[in-house]
Amino acid sequence: MNVESFGDIIKITLPTPFPVGDVNVFLIKGDRLTLVDAGVKTAASFEAFTSGLSEIGYTVDDIEQAVLTHHHPDHIGLLDFLPEGIDIIGHPYCKKWLAKDEEFLKENFLFFRELFLQAGLPPEAETMLGKIQSPLKFSSENSALTTAVQEGDRLPGLEEWRVFETPGHAQSHLAFFRERDGALIAGDHILATISSNPLLEPPLNRGEERPKPQLQYNESLRKMMNVPVDTVYTGHGKEVRNIVPLITRRLERQHERAMSVKEMLKEKPHTAFEVCMRLFPAVYKKETGLTMSETIGQLDYLLHIGEAGVERDDKGVLFYFPL
Ligand SMILES: [Zn+2]
Repeated sequence: MNVESFGDIIKITLPTPFPVGDVNVFLIKGDRLTLVDAGVKTAASFEAFTSGLSEIGYTVDDIEQAVLTHHHPDHIGLLDFLPEGIDIIGHPYCKKWLAKDEEFLKENFLFFRELFLQAGLPPEAETMLGKIQSPLKFSSENSALTTAVQEGDRLPGLEEWRVFETPGHAQSHLAFFRERDGALIAGDHILATISSNPLLEPPLNRGEERPKPQLQYNESLRKMMNVPVDTVYTGHGKEVRNIVPLITRRLERQHERAMSVKEMLKEKPHTAFEVCMRLFPAVYKKETGLTMSETIGQLDYLLHIGEAGVERDDKGVLFYFPL
């Protein structure tokens, strides 16, 4: 059984090939039958999706629109199987990730190459760089964002639901809140048992400054503390209630992690890559994108709160030191 009902919110749990495990998608019957998020594009995921739908008397063809919490492959893959021509609603940043034209993918690659160069990755790390785009094979291949929404908007066809921009885990990240019962569909912004990773991504427009996902994430968490949330419907795992203590804990832990990075810097100035190898000796090669995101996140945070400074050497590599 992969279907659970919470009043008019129906949760369907789908398998993914990623370490995170299953992903949750939601069906909401508003003016239009709406799917929030769309799993990965694999046979097993599609099969679980159609059998979940049939348990509650629907087929894929009944879905009238899709709403995306963010553009990651485990949240958009099944869009390709939805009825042609339906509205796909999300943050403007999703547009490029759905279109995935070659120029954009190249831009993405170059963004990481430049960033990793500054971070002090050795030249042989180019192979690690190559892997960064490999999860895309589980993503949607032929769907397009039709409707962009932003902070404060009401979701078309689901007028009770208000949009909150919650960047950090993804630049496109949105959460949807319904005042009537305090329901929050939060994607990967708030998860029950793990703190979600703020991920490095290129800016929305080329040439803009690099987003600082850890700082954005903390800001987006704090924002949710002021919203009267009763139940959070998460992208992975169980529902979450009572979010204020959870958010407080997550923010405190992140501060502690950053301060332990500062301790390393006291030994000698470090590049981001050197910090990364020390924080994640077993996985940095296999999960370079994730571990470098986590590392640079802590360093961005230390710079932001004035606990570290940074200097560039003549090759453009950044060295961080304590303040
Ligand atoms: Zn995600």
